[in-house]
Amino acid sequence: MADYLNPKLDCSATGSHETYRTLNPATGELVREFANATDGEAEALLARAYEAQLTWRAVPLPSRITLVRKLADLMDANADRLAHQVTLEMGKPLAQAKWEILLPTAILRYYADHVEELLAETTVDVPGFSRAYTRREPIGVVLAVEPWNAPIYQAMRPTVPNLILGNTVLVKPAKITAGSTLILDELFAEAGFPASVYQTALVSQEQVSRYIADPRIRAVTLTGSDRAGASIGEQAGRNIKPVVLELGGSDPFIVLDSADVAAAAQTAATCRLVQGGQVCVSPKRVIVTAKVSDEFIRQYTEVFASQKLGDPFDPETTVGPLSSPEAADLLQEQYQDAIDKGATVLVPGGRVPGPGAFFKPAVLTGISREMRLYHEEAFGPIGIIYQVADAYAAIALANDTKYGLGSTVFGQDLAEANHVAQALDTGGVGVNKYLGAPIEIPFGGTKASGVGRELGYSGLDAFANIKTYALA
Ligand code: NAP
Repeated sequence: MADYLNPKLDCSATGSHETYRTLNPATGELVREFANATDGEAEALLARAYEAQLTWRAVPLPSRITLVRKLADLMDANADRLAHQVTLEMGKPLAQAKWEILLPTAILRYYADHVEELLAETTVDVPGFSRAYTRREPIGVVLAVEPWNAPIYQAMRPTVPNLILGNTVLVKPAKITAGSTLILDELFAEAGFPASVYQTALVSQEQVSRYIADPRIRAVTLTGSDRAGASIGEQAGRNIKPVVLELGGSDPFIVLDSADVAAAAQTAATCRLVQGGQVCVSPKRVIVTAKVSDEFIRQYTEVFASQKLGDPFDPETTVGPLSSPEAADLLQEQYQDAIDKGATVLVPGGRVPGPGAFFKPAVLTGISREMRLYHEEAFGPIGIIYQVADAYAAIALANDTKYGLGSTVFGQDLAEANHVAQALDTGGVGVNKYLGAPIEIPFGGTKASGVGRELGYSGLDAFANIKTYALA
């Protein structure tokens, strides 16, 4: 087995030079390097996951539930350690890393509490049979490819429902946050899970492709960019494997004439700035009707201008560095492109020179179709405000994007707000409240935001064999 906690590099056996490497994004200093699995190690991980699945699926559901509850308790006990590692590797303020750790423990307890009801057999009257019913059964080993923006939460989001169903899971973490996800292997072992039902796999993209082509992998899920989604989706299709793709978003936040403007401005700005704007369902495009736009802009920009950018371990800090210098440079290119093409700067910000990946929160308006920010996801602390005449113009602009993840509508005229909500081509919509990704309901997007759903009952359905039994 690869000694992942021993920070030596060994790419020799594969010829692979991809490296799992964590730089502290606040300082630019190297935190740690982890060896990419050799081909032999990648094969051993899969072989163990496959073997483990044969017995794990036969473990009675109440025993699986007990283990899941133990893991939730252990994650609570290790919350500070997990949060510290996430902040060190990814750069989000420590308090926000602590919120992140609350989510997987809630997911564990949600499925422990509800799985028996969610997996209940469904009886159907079928002519010619005395009895017919369907059951959700495990399918085998699931491969989950996960991003860096919430390395513990994202790894656990597909893992928990699949494990409790009886599948085993291999998680390939992002190269820059492997140290966070690897702690999970320790916690699964300590909770008493059988060996290899969960494994973090430090594999290369080429090894991911080989996994997808291997018959022992029965399903693949990816959370990440639409570019990665297209690649993984294509490979899954070629190999006829079920796939879930949870991809990027450029979520609209619509503020109508009848909105409570103070609540809308506070919600839109604070939600945009969580994790320095590096959230898939961050409200990335505010669309506000002309009647209320002046007051909205005044209050929204006040929130942005009052942020404290700095060391993510400092309790006073509200916005830390972005995850990497590359991420900050890309955001700066998008920001500068908009300014060069005539956008209006309401709150000046941008890339901060010096070590670290800092980007001062900024607010822009006057974004036009020629600008990159009109079309691309802005994965960082840029507030974008569009001013439109009315609700119809708001709907048209909101849907004029390749993405369709989340959305928000603020308006006290509920008939109008609901009409707008229904017209939005997104996977979810919050009315007069930001929705986020509640555990209890399916989460996912339309168009380039993805395929399939996670969480709620969908988390169990995604990779279950919905098997029919019919008796003469
Ligand atoms: P990314 O570059 O697509 O990477 C995500 C994961 O996919 C990483 O583990 C990455 O590995 C891997 N990967 C990328 N291309 C691959 C390929 N061709 N084959 C195999 N693996 C591949 O995305 P990111 O920059 O880390 O994450 C940000 C994006 O994720 C944003 O667009 C954000 O909106 C989206 N996101 C979506 C959700 C959701 O639930 N819808 C949640 C969070 C984030 P390496 O690290 O080795 O490159």
